[in-house]
Amino acid sequence: MTAYAASSVTAFAPGNVPCNGHLKGEDDERFIIDCPVCEPLLAGDPFWATSLEEAPLTGPEMREAERKKAQGSAAMAEFSQAFMANFMSQQAAAFAAQQAEAAKAAESEKAKAEVEANAAKEDAEAAARAAAPKPAPKSAPRSKARGASA
Ligand SMILES: [Zn+2]
Repeated sequence: MTAYAASSVTAFAPGNVPCNGHLKGEDDERFIIDCPVCEPLLAGDPFWATSLEEAPLTGPEMREAERKKAQGSAAMAEFSQAFMANFMSQQAAAFAAQQAEAAKAAESEKAKAEVEANAAKEDAEAAARAAAPKPAPKSAPRSKARGASA
């Protein structure tokens, strides 16, 4: 077991036990005691914890953690805003592309319909021409034939 001190703690002198106490090393980032005599004395002490993660935060550390948390959520909000904006513009682009595709399809449908209408009109004209009475041949000997049969 090891005891991890809050960063504000730099020394521990137990007294009345077979240990002369401990001092934080100048280069140590965190004051850690690995001593079977002192550790039981530190159990439950608000300035000490049994893991670095649980090591109590000092006032400034707490403020820093709060600041980081706030910064983190601000960054997160910014990120999700940017994400949403990007998502929306992608959606808009996809929608516009879809609209353009639909317009193109409608245009080609229209062109096809026009071609069909023209063809139908031509057919109708052809049919009308076919149905129209043909001018009688000039040399048709109709009266003569009628006379002959009578
Ligand atoms: Zn000790």
